[in-house]
Amino acid sequence: MHIPADVTFEPNHLANRTILISGAGDGIGRSLSIHCAAAGATVILLGRTVAKLEAVYDEIVMAKYAEPAIIPLDLYGATESHYRDMASTIEQEFGQLNGVVHNASILGTLGQFKFIDVEEWEAVMKINVQSHFMMTKALLPLLEISDPASVIFTSSGVGAKARAFWSAYAVSKYATEGMATLLADEYKNSKLRFNVVNPGATNTAMRAKAYPAEDKSLLKTPDDLMPTYLYLLSDHSSTVTGQRFNAQ
Ligand code: NDP
Repeated sequence: MHIPADVTFEPNHLANRTILISGAGDGIGRSLSIHCAAAGATVILLGRTVAKLEAVYDEIVMAKYAEPAIIPLDLYGATESHYRDMASTIEQEFGQLNGVVHNASILGTLGQFKFIDVEEWEAVMKINVQSHFMMTKALLPLLEISDPASVIFTSSGVGAKARAFWSAYAVSKYATEGMATLLADEYKNSKLRFNVVNPGATNTAMRAKAYPAEDKSLLKTPDDLMPTYLYLLSDHSSTVTGQRFNAQ
């Protein structure tokens, strides 16, 4: 589905909200971090490359938006205790968490199923699925007491209909969609919401890796997708849960 065509966003519509974005240093996560800050949110920038996170931090501070926080974390190596520590730090510092965007993922190597390398499969599953499970599990107690609270999982076209050669990435996105649907059902009688966004073809490093020869100028940019993400993080979608949105 798509967001309603008539949605408009008031200035500062995310004021007084704390929003955690994974993969905040590049691509869609970077754009979303800046847009959330511009809409008044305090953004927690999570990612593995500190220099990229610092560049986003600087851009937000230079624009005089609310000062963000940085959480350097490699989702590949992170353990349950990392996520528990992260959750308690967020609770101590901010007292609430009104949005989580599971955006960080890796593509892995595309190719025929019979040639998938087992270590590569494990890395894709660890970063794209297991980290989302452990992070969500650790953050749930804080999300349950935060109002409003909206969690977005990021899928892909191949997360709804797998295609040949999309390998572990496609399987990981099916798992992502399953996790969001399961959580939405468990929390259907609460204010805590879980939805899925399929960004669609977007000009980022990941897209360039998957389609190195295509004309990038024909692609949407991360900024073009922002209305869908902002809608799901805002009060416009306060009753929307368990849905899958195409951002294009
Ligand atoms: P990018 O590759 O541009 O950005 C991915 C981000 O995830 C980067 O900030 C990267 O950090 C971070 N990341 C990767 N691995 C880890 C890790 N182990 N620990 C912490 N952070 C990590 O991708 P996109 O912006 O294109 O993708 C964002 C989301 O959108 C993904 O979930 C992707 O699957 C999905 N998507 C994208 C599409 C597209 O066309 N671009 C289409 C469909 C879905 P670093 O920069 O430090 O490596």
